[in-house]
Amino acid sequence: MTNKLKYFIGNWKMFGNTADLKKIYQINRFCSSFKKFKKSNKVIMCVPSTLIYLFSSKVKSKIISIGAQNCHFNEVEGPFTGSVNSSMLKKVGAKYIILGHSENRLEGDTNKIIIRKIEIALKNNLKVIFCIGETMQEKLKRKTFLILKKQLRILNKKKFNPNNIIIAYEPVWSIGSGKIPKSYYVKNVLKFIKKECKKIFKKKYLPALLYGGSVNAKNVRNFSSINELNGFLIGSASQSPKKFIDIIRNCYK
Ligand code: PEP
Repeated sequence: MTNKLKYFIGNWKMFGNTADLKKIYQINRFCSSFKKFKKSNKVIMCVPSTLIYLFSSKVKSKIISIGAQNCHFNEVEGPFTGSVNSSMLKKVGAKYIILGHSENRLEGDTNKIIIRKIEIALKNNLKVIFCIGETMQEKLKRKTFLILKKQLRILNKKKFNPNNIIIAYEPVWSIGSGKIPKSYYVKNVLKFIKKECKKIFKKKYLPALLYGGSVNAKNVRNFSSINELNGFLIGSASQSPKKFIDIIRNCYK
């Protein structure tokens, strides 16, 4: 594994209840005692909004932070039935937020909406896990770089601090499908994203780069030696502490 791997981020999606707090404790116990897990490494669990307050008030750990999975784009409170905004999530203890996830893009989040959400989340001191990725159709048409460039371009419009943004490359066709790209493919894509980020941020520091899509304990080692990679965004496997812990353990083998 490379010494640049830092983040193990879970996305619980629409799963979980208050009793699942024990899962967070279990992961925390493992990471605190696992010698190879460095102080600079981080676990971020992005859980349903209903669990953020409980989890963040109970889990006082330097290793684990609690994050949200999406929010409304409106900065202030308002008549948006069923929604929560960044400020509400921050106030109940979220430190991070996933934005631009393909499941939310499918539900109507456009690049224009996503940039607004990013802007407001950062304003409310949430760190943003910004998801980008191509569909299988786009991949087959060799449009991956074009799509990623378009998705990244929205960051260009504002002067964001790269330390507050983590970019997760998640090929849409890999999410929840069990299909994973070859490691050279991920490496090439991450190199491309890095090059684009250099143009956007024009700074020495660039956002951390993650891979996400059907990561499990077996396949994680296909990716863990990629130099450009700083961690993983893990969906379904993050709902099981055993699977999540095995992913971390196998990264360090
Ligand atoms: C995700 O939803 O961000 C994700 C990566 O899911 P999975 O690991 O289940 O493919």
